[in-house]
Amino acid sequence: MKKLAVICEQIAATTKKLEKIADVAAYFAASPPEDAAVSALFLSGRAFPLWEETTLQVGGSLLWRVVGELSGKSQGELTASYKRHGDLGSVADEILPARREDSDLSILEVQRRFREIATARGVTAKTGLLRDLLSQATPLEAKYIVKIMTADLRIGLKESLVEEAIAKAYGATAAEVQRANMLLGDIGETLRLAAGGKLAEARMRMFHPLGFMLASPADSAEAALSYFENAFVEDKYDGIRAQVHCSGDNVKIFSRTRDEITESFPELADALCGFSEDVILDGEIVAWGYLAADSEEPSRALPFSALQQRLGRKKVSDEMIRRVPVAYLAFDVLYARGELLLDRPLKERANILDDILEKAETFNHRGHEGSRRKTSQVRLAFGRAEENIRTQVIRAPVFRAASPHELDALFEAAQARGNEGLMIKDPESAYTPGRRGKSWLKLKRELATLDVIVTAVEYGHGKRISVLSDYTFAVRDGERLVNIGKAYSGLTDVEIAEMTKWFLDHTVEDQGLRLVVEPKIVVEVAFNNMMKSERHNSGYALRFPRIVRLRPDKLAEEADTIERVREIYNKQRSA
Ligand code: AMP
Repeated sequence: MKKLAVICEQIAATTKKLEKIADVAAYFAASPPEDAAVSALFLSGRAFPLWEETTLQVGGSLLWRVVGELSGKSQGELTASYKRHGDLGSVADEILPARREDSDLSILEVQRRFREIATARGVTAKTGLLRDLLSQATPLEAKYIVKIMTADLRIGLKESLVEEAIAKAYGATAAEVQRANMLLGDIGETLRLAAGGKLAEARMRMFHPLGFMLASPADSAEAALSYFENAFVEDKYDGIRAQVHCSGDNVKIFSRTRDEITESFPELADALCGFSEDVILDGEIVAWGYLAADSEEPSRALPFSALQQRLGRKKVSDEMIRRVPVAYLAFDVLYARGELLLDRPLKERANILDDILEKAETFNHRGHEGSRRKTSQVRLAFGRAEENIRTQVIRAPVFRAASPHELDALFEAAQARGNEGLMIKDPESAYTPGRRGKSWLKLKRELATLDVIVTAVEYGHGKRISVLSDYTFAVRDGERLVNIGKAYSGLTDVEIAEMTKWFLDHTVEDQGLRLVVEPKIVVEVAFNNMMKSERHNSGYALRFPRIVRLRPDKLAEEADTIERVREIYNKQRSA
């Protein structure tokens, strides 16, 4: 483990990418392949291969507690060290006693201990194992063990650089390594293949999530069409992104954070089984139904707030499935016909998607126009879905637009259907996982902004560790203030520095990393969406809140009220 910690320090010390790659490559080449394979995993900030989905289940507070205990320092000293470094690994390095110069912890042993911690049940068992591990390590080793456990190395090394280092160490091309890693979801296994000259033997391993392609915002219809002509246009559905892996009756659903969420949507997993081949689809899960029980309108995607009740559940009751039916709007295919399709242009992927969904006969071909009768027929065609549950797999309809005028008309229509706006896609583009390029553009309305009052502030992370950049804010409820959200500051560095000084001078209660401040500063926040939530005492929370600007022109008494919040919430529900 010592060698790995030393190489990590070396990598952190340079900002030059090529140097980082060369250092890692030299380290791989000098290590036995098995050590190098586990190192590749750790250097990517993972304790376990991506495909395994094993997690340590050790939170920051447990780590904080064990590091504190082993150091024998007070909470105050711990907090002061954290403020200096902004990262618990570096805190461990600073405050853990150097019991020994050297340790005999090998990298394979660390991985074995990680597995033990992952499988241990209960906080006490995990705490004991963690304590044992950290007390056997030197402070420098502990620094990187903690960093790997928090999945945040902060040495300026992304997985893509590790891939390049593997290529350099074993004489392969970066593209060959990337491809194998994408297929396998295992950078360690990729290294083993590269070391044996067998990268071409990598085969798709289903059920590990691939990266998601992301979209860039477009300000207007004109701007959106300036990047490419004759765009593919889809509605922008307001749900959650989901990549589904289907292999016969085996279906797994992954969220945008690459977490498995199949358990939250069992009926969707049922609806998605039965493809005649292995497929990976990309799409959006939305709540689906009628705005009113007696509505004659076709069923449609409902606002995000409806879907919210279905999120984060490990067990879903039949009642919940019936009360909040969901649909999967498929808009892309990443794997089918035994082939990874990412490099094919969107127009080809779209044809393949049409084809496989049609063959599966389990989706609503009529999309938005689907009538009640059609919907119920589709419902019966679905896998093992019960008769009275509408679970649908719908091909997201694709429209074409070649002029801003056409795009505007589509935007209006999308909003009339209750969707957020449009996604505008280049038909010639490849699927680029994890990248926010200009091949996918999003055009959406902002909900109204809110003027809110800052009630508490926290120190930031990384570069912002010494400034108060994380704001909790509230709206007025009569004489009271009720919190509604929390956001990192979107202000300029100068503004943040000025505000930090103001907050320090106007602190009401110092809670360590968090300061409760005099409720006088008004800021304007934008957000994607509003939902009911127990998290804040207003009973509401904002989705993706962003601080747009300071409102020094406004007094706290002029900030928005809870009534205004309710108004926006209701408007959004009926949109
Ligand atoms: P945003 O979350 O505002 O960055 O917008 C991108 C997100 O929109 C994606 O991650 C998807 O979850 C969602 N989305 C909704 N409809 C579509 C669509 N037709 N194509 C791609 N993404 C979509």
